[in-house]
Amino acid sequence: MLQTIAAFDRIGEENAFAVLARATALAQSGKDIVNLGIGQPDFRTPEHIVEAAIKALRDGHHGYTPATGLLATREAVVRRTLATTGIEVSPETVMIMPGGKPTMFAAILMFGEPGAEILYPDPGFPIYRSMIEFTGARPVPVPIREENGFAFSAEETLALITPRTRLLILNSPANPTGGVTPRGEIEKLVRGLEAHPHVAILSDEIYDVMTYDGEKHCSLLTFPEIRERLIVLNGWSKTWAMTGWRMGWSIWPNAPEGGRLYDKVRKLAVNCWSCVNAPSQFAGIAAIDGPQDEVEKMMRAFDRRRTIVVEGLNGLPGISCITPKGAFYAFPNVSKTGWQAKKLANALLDDAGVALIGGPDFGVLGEGYLRLSYANSEENILRAIERIGDFLEKNAN
Ligand code: PLP
Repeated sequence: MLQTIAAFDRIGEENAFAVLARATALAQSGKDIVNLGIGQPDFRTPEHIVEAAIKALRDGHHGYTPATGLLATREAVVRRTLATTGIEVSPETVMIMPGGKPTMFAAILMFGEPGAEILYPDPGFPIYRSMIEFTGARPVPVPIREENGFAFSAEETLALITPRTRLLILNSPANPTGGVTPRGEIEKLVRGLEAHPHVAILSDEIYDVMTYDGEKHCSLLTFPEIRERLIVLNGWSKTWAMTGWRMGWSIWPNAPEGGRLYDKVRKLAVNCWSCVNAPSQFAGIAAIDGPQDEVEKMMRAFDRRRTIVVEGLNGLPGISCITPKGAFYAFPNVSKTGWQAKKLANALLDDAGVALIGGPDFGVLGEGYLRLSYANSEENILRAIERIGDFLEKNAN
């Protein structure tokens, strides 16, 4: 990898942050804005988690921790992983990270270089492509299609692998689509990957427990055949409403081959962020080990809002929306409105006071779609739907 100023020029953006800034500026100027743009729970971090951080500071936990994270926090992740996947990982493979994104950054940096190819979902979280481009590797989009319920297609994914492919990025439940890839499809994918031992896998499972309708998340960790080339990204941001705490974790391959990767990411931490702040790591333990009733309450609220969003959108002219199975996003198809998605997103913010994200901000296959985050109250969601409907009636294209 050659990092020059030119490489920095290839770094992209996450437009959700730009939309949030614009929406906030408009709101501050007195405009009534309903914000369905940003991907973070609108709930407060549960009180016992906040208290654990305060107690940690009062107890004097304000210094450096090991670069890989406190053993107690890593052990909490081990317990949580066992509970959600049935798989026991070693704390020596767990890395506590300052959020979910740094795992993406580290994994893509490890495998990306000019001449390499990295497969990533399109539409997908925009940072994947941005980081791939930063490394000089060729980004190869894996199409994520509405007709598949926005799940990965094993066949289509495998067909894109070449001898130059170094890394395959998977994300389920997914941002921006809410798609959940069923276990059967992941099994097919893993079986196919056995013919491509040169391909490492980054599985972004940050929305792992955010599924609906009895849908079960399938962790890539449950496939021992790929364990030695698998990196799992996860974190506290979404599940426990902790986006601003900057708390994530990743699970790296076992030694010996994997031990080297783990050591590399540890060194990256030493050189870059030293460690995640200590009180947050104590909060992270409380989040995992403490009562989950607030998480369950949040998920019940998301589920109700999901129904409201989907029914509301499907009642609007030119819009159709499949029911998302996970995360807290709806990804309606707006192609029949006659509007280009980004133009529509901009117009809805400026003229209707609804902040949401145009599908093309998540990749070229996002054209014709909008992303709505339903991390907002039922009342606000209903207001947003009404405003979008009024806007479309007055501005038929
Ligand atoms: N991965 C996906 C799919 C996401 O949607 C997000 C945040 O929106 C992240 C990772 C990053 O999470 P964090 O805020 O913990 O860095």
